[in-house]
Formats: sequence, structure tokens, C-alpha cells
Amino acid sequence: MGKEIVKTECLGCAETFDGIVMDCEKCGGVPVLRLSDMEWDISSNRPNIWRYASMLPKFKRYVTLGEGLTPIRKYRKYKLKLELRNPTGSYADRASAVLSSYFLSKDPNAPVRIKYASDFTYSLVSYLIGVPEVEVVLDDPFSVEVEEILSLIELGATVNFSDASAQLSYMNPLTIEGLKTTVFELFERGIKRGKIFVPAETGILAISIWKGIEDLRAIGEDVGFEVVAVHLEGMKIPSSLDRVRGIDVFEVSRDKALKKLIELAKTGIKTKLLSAASLEAMEEDGEEGSIAIITASDSRRRTLPVGKNSRLSKEILRLLSEGGGGTAYEIWERMGKYTLRGVYKSLASMESAGLVASSFSVEGRRKKKVYFLPNEDMKKGSSNS
Ligand SMILES: [Zn+2]
Repeated sequence: MGKEIVKTECLGCAETFDGIVMDCEKCGGVPVLRLSDMEWDISSNRPNIWRYASMLPKFKRYVTLGEGLTPIRKYRKYKLKLELRNPTGSYADRASAVLSSYFLSKDPNAPVRIKYASDFTYSLVSYLIGVPEVEVVLDDPFSVEVEEILSLIELGATVNFSDASAQLSYMNPLTIEGLKTTVFELFERGIKRGKIFVPAETGILAISIWKGIEDLRAIGEDVGFEVVAVHLEGMKIPSSLDRVRGIDVFEVSRDKALKKLIELAKTGIKTKLLSAASLEAMEEDGEEGSIAIITASDSRRRTLPVGKNSRLSKEILRLLSEGGGGTAYEIWERMGKYTLRGVYKSLASMESAGLVASSFSVEGRRKKKVYFLPNEDMKKGSSNS
């Protein structure tokens, strides 16, 4: 913890703000965090992005579903980073771990409103299982993946159509903090230079990887990475990239991307067209040792440890917040339905996700494990740092 000073700097107008600011009210540009106390000190016992906690903003609670540490596969003379091996099947899980930690640390009872974006929303809603009220706002029915909407409802979110204000956009500094860990994993594995080809639809991943490289340089590490943002022919180059110096842009034709998509599927990697495009761009460029980021799986989702039975998880969380902690057996008794085994399993997965905590107490000669909400004793603070 210590004396961390967090500032937010807008890449658009260079304005700086104290604390974490989610969007620049001055110009609407992309804000990034400036952390005062970063150091490269890996918590190697954490099999998730929090192994890089020393390079990330600090929170009271840390949420994880096991995101990150995705495989790096050799491909001809190149490398692929398989982000589709994240808990919900996409790179967005890295961002969701940071965003949900922020929301749960700030005020676990405050409702969260999210602007819909493919992959991101499904991921974040899965991570926000401890938040009682999650609303997803669709502002463009044409850019919606229908199947995804149904899964969001299954996860307990409300879905509304509106163009209304105050809602979370993914172009925010905490998304960037989460996604930047992708480059830390390369660095931890001893990969310190080369071109990184990044699918760019909004440009957020390219900016995040660039930020990760900047942060490594800020603490004095010698890294020689270059970021190449890849977009499909006929699609606009994301305007967010205009303001970031040091990101190259590469255009790939649709038919070549499609051929690559099919070729990849034959090797067992089912991804999206834009990810296939980044691989195509890497091969057209031809530099040995380059890395392509495969961001997401086609549309099939992996089953989530917590999300799988989210209704049960949500009920347990509500019960704990209303009636205080208890043993798994007591919780099961209070619920009146579900199986004891189901309650045990749900508690175990929520504990590993950081949503519930436990301690042992002794009653007579018996030791019992008591579950409770992690910051039950903490009064709601609205610390913004
Ligand atoms: Zn600005």
C-alpha cells in the first residue's frame, strides 16, 4: 500500500487530474494513469494479473477469475499470444479484473451502469457478480451481438436501451491498466523486444500495450517493443490512436484476413476476423520474432467458475451482507434451497475470486470455517485513489 500518489493524465489535451478520473471532461480524449510508486516486483504465487500489483493501482479489494498468464505459442518464425484463453474467452478479462476491483473497493453497493461493447460487457458483468445492480445500456441496436445480450441477462444484468448519460465507457484509464499487463507477461517470460501486432477496432488494446511499454521504461527497464495497430480494409483507423506517438498502423484486406482465419481454425484456434488480420499483418511485415495478439475466441464462451451459477452466488452475497457471516452449512440452512454441495462449491469459487473471505474459529473442540464479505468491517469510504 504505502504512499501511492495517483494522477490521471489526458492523452488528448495533456491536462492532469488528481486521483483516478474515468474520462476527460475537457476534451473527451483518452486518459491514462500516472502511478508514483511502480516497481517490477512480481507476486509469483498469484496466477492472475495481480502478480503485477506492484505496477498497478492499489485497491482495498482485488477481484480475479484467473485472467492473464495466457499461452505464448510459437508460430513459424513468430509468436502468438493467445488471449482467448482467458476466463470469458477474451482479453477484456484483464480490464474487468481491475475495473471490478475498483468498483467493489469504492462502494460494493453502488449500482454500475455500463455502455455495451462486444466482449467487454460480457466479461465485466461476469466479474461484477458481487455488485447487486448492474445495468447494461445499449445505444446502438445494430452493433449488438444478440447471443451476448441473452447471456448478460442470464448473468443477472438488466439491459436497457437509452442514449442517457453517466455510463462507463471502456475507453478509460482502468481498462488500460488491466490490458497493459499483456506486455508484462511477455517481459516476465524474457521477451523484451520485437513488433507487437494488435487488432485495433477502438484502439484501446494498442494504447494499453503502448502504456505497458512506457511504464516499463519509466522504471528503467530496457525494452525494445514496437506497437503495430492492425485494422481491416474499409474500416476507419481508430481516432484514439491519433494522439499517441509511437504506434504504427497496418491495413489488411478482408479476403486475406478471412483466409488466415480459416487457416488458424484448422490449427484449433477459433478467433475473430480482426485477430486473424493481425496475424496476416505480421506475416506480410515478415520480421522474425514478432508477436501477434489473438484477442478473443469466436463466440463460444468458456464456462466461468462463478458466472456459471450466478444466481446462487448473488444470493449468497446478499445473505452475507444482510445477515453477516457464517459457515457453509449455516449459509445453506439460511437459504432454504439449493444443495449443500452447490453452496460449498459456490463459496469456494467466490473465495478464490476475492468476493468472499474466510477465517477459522474454534467452537468447543471443533474448528470451523466462517465465510464473510471481505470489507464487512470497513465503513463505506469513497476514496478515489
Ligand atoms: Zn483531455
